[in-house]
Amino acid sequence: NATQELLLSRIRDVADHPKPGVVFKDITPLLADPVAFTALTDALSEFCVRHGATKIIGLEARGFILAAPVAVRAGIGFIPVRKAGKLPGATLSQAYELEYGSAEIEVHAEDLSAGDRVVVIDDVLATGGTAEASLELIRRAGADVVGVVVLMELGFLGGRARLEPALAGAPLEAL
Ligand code: IMP
Repeated sequence: NATQELLLSRIRDVADHPKPGVVFKDITPLLADPVAFTALTDALSEFCVRHGATKIIGLEARGFILAAPVAVRAGIGFIPVRKAGKLPGATLSQAYELEYGSAEIEVHAEDLSAGDRVVVIDDVLATGGTAEASLELIRRAGADVVGVVVLMELGFLGGRARLEPALAGAPLEAL
């Protein structure tokens, strides 16, 4: 549809970033276009409202940029999931495997509780490792995942299949 055409037209392919052979999807042209950024914020907000979210998680770092205006627009609290070592309070942390090596993400334990209905927002779903780890954090906090929504899914990397068990029936939508 027209919104998808607009969003797609504002995503730039950058060859060989961050390393040779990788084509990086750069969303900075979209962020710089207020019409496109507003259309994206509206679509993400609609997903959160439709699924009855009570908390919105953004994944560091581009997920923060997308999720924060959605939280304001939808009137739903924003919760950052950060790379390990950044959050000052008591955290839950979750390690996950990368193509080479591993990574760890954290959330403030007090930000999630039983009964919360959580939507996770990020810019790009690639292998699904980051999103999968975030779903594990939410589950360990006793909250419910009601959906994952991303701007873009790189289908050839198989993230959707990797995420499926952790989603436990919750929807994954790529705009
Ligand atoms: P995954 O864990 O492999 O799914 O990688 C997803 C994470 O890496 C997300 O937080 C994305 O922001 C980032 N990422 C991976 N590939 C790209 C890309 O081409 N453009 C922008 N971000 C990317």
